[in-house]
Amino acid sequence: MAMSLPPDLHMHTPLCRHAQGEPVDYARRALAAGLTEIGFSDHSPMPQDDFDNWRMRLDQLDEYVDKVLHARHEVPGLTIGLALEVDYIPGHEEWIRDLAARHPWDYLIGSVHYVSEAWAIDDPQKLSEWKHRDPHEVWSVYFDRLKMAAQSGLFEILGHLDLPKKFGHQPPPGCRALYEPLLETAAKFQCAIELNTAGLRKDCKEIYPSREILELARKKGVLITFGSDAHAPEEVGMNFGEAIQLAKAVGYEDCCRFEGRKRFSVRF
Ligand code: ZN
Ligand code: FE
Ligand code: FE
Ligand code: ZN
Repeated sequence: MAMSLPPDLHMHTPLCRHAQGEPVDYARRALAAGLTEIGFSDHSPMPQDDFDNWRMRLDQLDEYVDKVLHARHEVPGLTIGLALEVDYIPGHEEWIRDLAARHPWDYLIGSVHYVSEAWAIDDPQKLSEWKHRDPHEVWSVYFDRLKMAAQSGLFEILGHLDLPKKFGHQPPPGCRALYEPLLETAAKFQCAIELNTAGLRKDCKEIYPSREILELARKKGVLITFGSDAHAPEEVGMNFGEAIQLAKAVGYEDCCRFEGRKRFSVRF
């Protein structure tokens, strides 16, 4: 019997200025890959459009929603979620609540990219920042912000849990002590974490999060989702076989999907 693939809840659109392909192309690709459900979670706008150059402008938010609804209409055989990948930055809570109220989102992914005012940890242009900072301090700030994101109650999912490893900066051993409080918080606030396969396409060559973190997440009762973080149609559902294998290896049998910000359990 064919195994059912989990929903792919993390993908982008060209509105963020670093992705290719229209939502309808992602949707068609998803069907071809055997998926039954996807969700768009493009980089959300900031109150100031010049905040950085890798997200939609605020005046494009309606266009984003229209594109996703258009894909729903054009590819009726697929369930398509409407979501955002929102940057969690301490102090942005009011802005995020404002965004959340603007459209009927199915879920919001809370991601930490910014570990300081100007340093997005996944920005290849900012790689030299690592030379000026203590790695333990960087990971501490990162996980601390993620914990605040979980506690905020603003998000259904925490994005790419160990993103700072993207370029190969694995957490130093002393960082293990940071996993437990973060995962306990995620469990307590029922904020799912995603198995994000984009890490396999980066220098770290690993799914986010690591097996070690995922094992602990399972022990703590943290819920999971799956996401390709596709920035092009051919990346939809990419490496899901590997992600499923990892999830099963640490004891997961169910993942989450969301509709109108309500959570449902899916066996995979
Ligand atoms: Zn992106
Ligand atoms: Fe991200
Ligand atoms: Fe993303
Ligand atoms: Zn992402």
